[in-house]
Amino acid sequence: MALITCDKLSLGYEGKAILEDLSFSIESGDYFCIVGENGSGKTTLMRTLLGLIKPMGGCITFGEGLKSSQIGYLPQQTTLQKEFPASVREIVLSGCRSEKRIHPFYSKEQKNTAQDAMDKMQISHLARKSYRELSGGQQQRVLLARALCAASKVLLLDEPVSGLDPKVTAEMYEVIEELNQKEKITIIMISHDLGEAIHYANRILHIGNSIFCGNVEDYLQSKEGRYFAHHVCSLPEGTHFLRKPDGRKGAGHDGHH
Ligand code: ADP
Repeated sequence: MALITCDKLSLGYEGKAILEDLSFSIESGDYFCIVGENGSGKTTLMRTLLGLIKPMGGCITFGEGLKSSQIGYLPQQTTLQKEFPASVREIVLSGCRSEKRIHPFYSKEQKNTAQDAMDKMQISHLARKSYRELSGGQQQRVLLARALCAASKVLLLDEPVSGLDPKVTAEMYEVIEELNQKEKITIIMISHDLGEAIHYANRILHIGNSIFCGNVEDYLQSKEGRYFAHHVCSLPEGTHFLRKPDGRKGAGHDGHH
């Protein structure tokens, strides 16, 4: 059984469907990217997976004992959040859910979880700093560490690199890839950068007028993938899927090889 199975989902608001007959599954360990044009329903789908919105039809089944509360979520950052007046450590710790929130203090175990998450994100040296004084990339690492405290199995990331400069973007992608490869965390990411999505993901869900779900290689051959890659995202014709020399996946282009 897959980690997450969506069967004939209909999604929408106030009785009006945005997406219909959406079926796909996510396996444990996947690096799963959701792509599609603006307004196609990517965020709606993610919020439905988190149990924040009820599907209008169809069903979502979790395998391997997964509960929606075990899915960590990194929403798109708002300007308000960027000004949040708290220390890095406090923000990371606030990701630790308490089953029985009776006392206002964090347990030793939760503090260890937070420290572990900060170590993984390489932000331990910033623990006492104020969040609002950090750079955009550092802030994203803090929020990722916070999401890691909430859940160590699955992370849902909504455009985690938007607004970051190219160098910091590349570092963020590296950190996320490490979480997937080393920590075996299933990554579900909304991405508007198709080039990056096909570089890092093993599977792609394309939503829009028509729907595709499958591996990256098949996506680039599909009518959805070809149209989206070349006409919407302006990737060069002939962009294709390659194995990197170290055996990892990646996208390449005929012209460079
Ligand atoms: P994407 O993330 O792909 O850009 P969204 O899931 O944000 O798309 O939005 C899909 C559609 O749903 C859009 O037409 C948007 O206007 C509509 N929508 C989003 N949120 C709401 C809401 N809370 N109530 C009603 N319609 C909404």
